[in-house]
Amino acid sequence: MEQKDMTSNENEKVKLLIIGSGPAGYTAAIYAARANLKPLLYQGIQPGGQLTITTEVENYPGYPQGIQGPEMMLDFEKQAARMGADIRFGMATEVDLSEQPFKVTIDEEKVIEADAVIIATGASAKWLGLESEQRLNGQGVSACAVCDGFFFKNQEVAIVGAGDTACEEALYLSNICSKVHMLIRRDEMRASKIMQSRVMKTANIEVHWNTETLEILGDAKVEAVKVLNNRSGQEGIIPVGAFFVAIGHQPNAEIFRGQLELDDQGYIKTIPGSTRTSREGIFACGDVQDKIYRQAVTAAGSGCMAALDAERYLSAKEHGEL
Ligand code: NDP
Repeated sequence: MEQKDMTSNENEKVKLLIIGSGPAGYTAAIYAARANLKPLLYQGIQPGGQLTITTEVENYPGYPQGIQGPEMMLDFEKQAARMGADIRFGMATEVDLSEQPFKVTIDEEKVIEADAVIIATGASAKWLGLESEQRLNGQGVSACAVCDGFFFKNQEVAIVGAGDTACEEALYLSNICSKVHMLIRRDEMRASKIMQSRVMKTANIEVHWNTETLEILGDAKVEAVKVLNNRSGQEGIIPVGAFFVAIGHQPNAEIFRGQLELDDQGYIKTIPGSTRTSREGIFACGDVQDKIYRQAVTAAGSGCMAALDAERYLSAKEHGEL
């Protein structure tokens, strides 16, 4: 379904440019195309976004039997294309948002000029960087407890990380799994006091302090995790069915630094209750502006909001009200 950008390298002018192809970008494209804004969408290096590296998605409404992440994203893409969105493969490599029309360079060569831009470039989960983590990704290794915890019902699982996300996900898992081993590399947690206290009060969460992951064990699926206590130097093996990584996310917003307001962790700041950014005519939706919910359904919802916000902006602009 991937459409290479076969158009010439000549500059183009569009009303609405959407950057990114996860649930947020495609939903924005569906709404914008139906509003006759003729959106042009560039997919980025990972068409379909983070869901294309997950397996089964069971929590997206409308799929009663569940669906594979990559297949779901193809459905999103087909729906956006059917509505008339112009979907192309290509990466935004440079932006100039200082004046109208906004200029976005694609693959370092072609410049798209746009009256409005929707940024839906997402975020990427951080990984430990172990070979076994990569090999068993989707086979018990996951960066999303809410997505995959259910598959390990009544089993023992491990989670690495000590921030609010790790605490939240450990608590979530504790309601599903028989036991949660929380692997923390220091002798304290970074998470807020209230989250720490909830974790410590939960009987089936065992906190392993000063513990680093050496390797995830298992041939075809996760069977155990090999750990090191960095104080005592002692190694150990904990049998688990799944290994969750919750050590933070990296928003894909670096090319906007200096042009849009970002928060201290690099997420694009939006005006609460809207997708408006610090620059009029530029909207942000999905994980690039959301470090809290990060779900496909919330990303899709904010993609819808971005298209509606862009439509109102373009209409006001056309009527000379801006
Ligand atoms: P954080 O950056 O806050 O925490 C990352 C955690 O992962 C830290 O404990 C860090 O350990 C650990 N870590 C990082 N690298 C490694 C590694 N290689 N091996 C082992 N552990 C590692 O990320 P979060 O995703 O938890 O949170 C991001 C932001 O979002 C925070 O501001 C948080 O408060 C917010 N948030 C808010 C929520 C809410 O309000 N409901 C929910 C979720 C997040 P160390 O401490 O040793 O550096």
